[in-house]
Amino acid sequence: PFDVLVIGGGPAGASSAIYAARKGIRTGIVAERFGGQVMDTVGIENFISVKYTEGAKLAAGLEEHVKEYNVDIMKLQRAKRLEKKELIEVELENGAILRSKTVILATGARWRNVNVPGEAEFKNKGVAYCPHCDGPLFAGKDVAVIGGGNSGIEAAIDLAGIVRHVTVLEFMPELKADSVLQERLYSLPNVTVYKNVQTKEITGTDKVDGISFIERDSGDVKHVELQGVFVQIGLVPNTDWLSETLERTRMGEIVVDRQGATSVPGVFAAGDCTNSPYKQIIISMGSGATAALGAFDYLIRN
Ligand code: FAD
Repeated sequence: PFDVLVIGGGPAGASSAIYAARKGIRTGIVAERFGGQVMDTVGIENFISVKYTEGAKLAAGLEEHVKEYNVDIMKLQRAKRLEKKELIEVELENGAILRSKTVILATGARWRNVNVPGEAEFKNKGVAYCPHCDGPLFAGKDVAVIGGGNSGIEAAIDLAGIVRHVTVLEFMPELKADSVLQERLYSLPNVTVYKNVQTKEITGTDKVDGISFIERDSGDVKHVELQGVFVQIGLVPNTDWLSETLERTRMGEIVVDRQGATSVPGVFAAGDCTNSPYKQIIISMGSGATAALGAFDYLIRN
């Protein structure tokens, strides 16, 4: 059996595997797609000490670094079941069953898409999902935020300080964000809010040049010219496969403590699949290190 089995090969999983392997214990990593969300990213400017890098390059660096150690790497494999017996069992979709004394879950998350024409086409060409990452690319420009929940309104407030103008589009008749956020939003001079509207299309030629939406009560279509669209309608953790095996939040995020431990002894979690409040590469790597050290601590006590 493994001492530490990591599920997920993004920044959190890679960091967990390296920290575990450096303790000289038997470490494995299962990754459906090594690199994770980093593979979907073009420019990265907030990975501290590296002024600029690109997703594919960082993902290759993660894998190269893991390969420096004696880690059993199982790529293109998807975990589908976890069960705590004497050891912890993880079943893969191909039917294989892996056994380990500890498991670190690092399966990440995915941004919910609006699924309108132009979204996929202009990804990284004006369509963005992370204001902390891509906000500065739109300095002095006009952008839209789709989504009037807490993350959408936080993004709009954040972006309003950087860009020229922010258009907020909310599908429901009212914003769902906390009232303090709404008050702050409405106090800003460069924000326009449209409620009860449905995004119809993100337009452009080689990059985004506007957004069209339908006013749901009148059926009228409006078009706003702008250069960026931030989609903020939810980040979904990849934790469905765990169902009731351990404690998750209402949103499906795995609940972890300060050591990265979950509600099941010996099972740890790190990165975007957890209830950590901010989802970033550097934060995922930090929590991966925490979970690996937490798992090591657990091993020497049990
Ligand atoms: P992920 O990167 O999501 O990795 C999850 C891993 O788990 C993958 O290997 C996946 O294949 C695997 N997996 C999932 N389910 C299973 C399963 N059942 N079995 C086996 N393997 C599984 N952050 C920044 O700090 N700076 C940026 O500039 C930045 N830009 C971004 C741009 C985009 C377009 C996106 C989508 C995100 C961006 N982020 C950025 C956020 C950052 O990518 C994430 O916070 C980070 O990748 C999270 O790391 P993670 O390891 O927790 O999860």
